[in-house]
Amino acid sequence: MGAPLLKRTSPPRRLHELVKAPENLPSSVERRESWDASKPATVYLTPEVLPNGSPCTAATVILRTRGCTWWWKSGCTFCGYFNDVRDDVTIDNLQSQWIEAKKITNDFEGCKMVKVYTSGTFFEDEENPTQWQETVLRETREMGLHLVVEAQAHLCREDKLSWVSSIHPGCTVAIGLEAYDDAVLRFHVNKGFNLKVWHGAVERLRKHNLRVKTYLLFKPPFMSEGDALTHSVNWVKQVARFSDEVSINPMNIQKKTIVDRLHRNREYRPPWLWSLVKMIQESHHDITESGCRVIVHPTAGGKVRGAHNCGKCDKEVVAAIERYSVSKELDEFSSLRCDCKSVWSDEISSDISSPVQFGTGMTRRGNVLRSLHAP
Ligand code: SF4
Ligand SMILES: [Zn+2]
Repeated sequence: MGAPLLKRTSPPRRLHELVKAPENLPSSVERRESWDASKPATVYLTPEVLPNGSPCTAATVILRTRGCTWWWKSGCTFCGYFNDVRDDVTIDNLQSQWIEAKKITNDFEGCKMVKVYTSGTFFEDEENPTQWQETVLRETREMGLHLVVEAQAHLCREDKLSWVSSIHPGCTVAIGLEAYDDAVLRFHVNKGFNLKVWHGAVERLRKHNLRVKTYLLFKPPFMSEGDALTHSVNWVKQVARFSDEVSINPMNIQKKTIVDRLHRNREYRPPWLWSLVKMIQESHHDITESGCRVIVHPTAGGKVRGAHNCGKCDKEVVAAIERYSVSKELDEFSSLRCDCKSVWSDEISSDISSPVQFGTGMTRRGNVLRSLHAP
């Protein structure tokens, strides 16, 4: 069957309909509808750290929901969560998924923390029925588990936060800010809110004694490696002042997203692992001073769709970054060596000195003429 885009008889009304065509392909819809709506997308355990600094085991529960309202209206350029959602999920489905998650983990046996991720905003009523939100908030509170949920900044409204904190006081609300820069939020990420809105959300979260976790995205699309490094060092220092925890997520290319298209067109390369090491080295002092917990987790690190180097040194560099997240010792990086470091270093220098829009790294260049025409 052909793409609906090609079969249109009238022109699309919005650019959004052109750019977002893949999620409406019959194959995408069929895949989404094949999910069992009574089972969570995934449940797994990881080592974590509680707000008081003590180590613990955390359960991560990723549910199949109706997904983020922002995605269905427009959506962030890198977000592939729509691949895991169904728009016909009911409250009964969600209750079954939650029961299934408890069954899989034997009522979160041995866990002190649970992260409940809904591919959108946990306490948004259009996405998730209020009654189900209440079940999760109440039960995790009764089980003595520290709860982490995710939200968009503009949905952290006064009435909602007051309700959340009355049922599960002190839980963590993680906001995907991605960049501490309004132009990047608007033109690179299409985030749907700006810094003013994020600051307002942080203020309200503090007022209700909820913990603030902030996600930053390392190397959004339409940005060179050199710019990504310079900006991220600055962003992490800025947001650490307002957050209890910052998680820096190097771009990991999710299927059927805008970044995926750029990548397939050789116009985007996920970040180098060397850039992550350099960012950590340059921001280490300020982060330590701020007292904020900062984690860098290269999802799919070493793979072509995740942050990677030359292929030979990737495993070792990913391991050092992960060790650093626990030890906070810069020494973790002192023995790392590879020939590819000079290639990366040349790329950073030329990105910083030459205004080439997508950067100067050869692996991400598409048509040479198009690159030269770029402002
Ligand atoms: S707000 Fe979050 S869930 Fe929604 S489109 Fe953006 S990244 Fe995806
Ligand atoms: Zn290498």
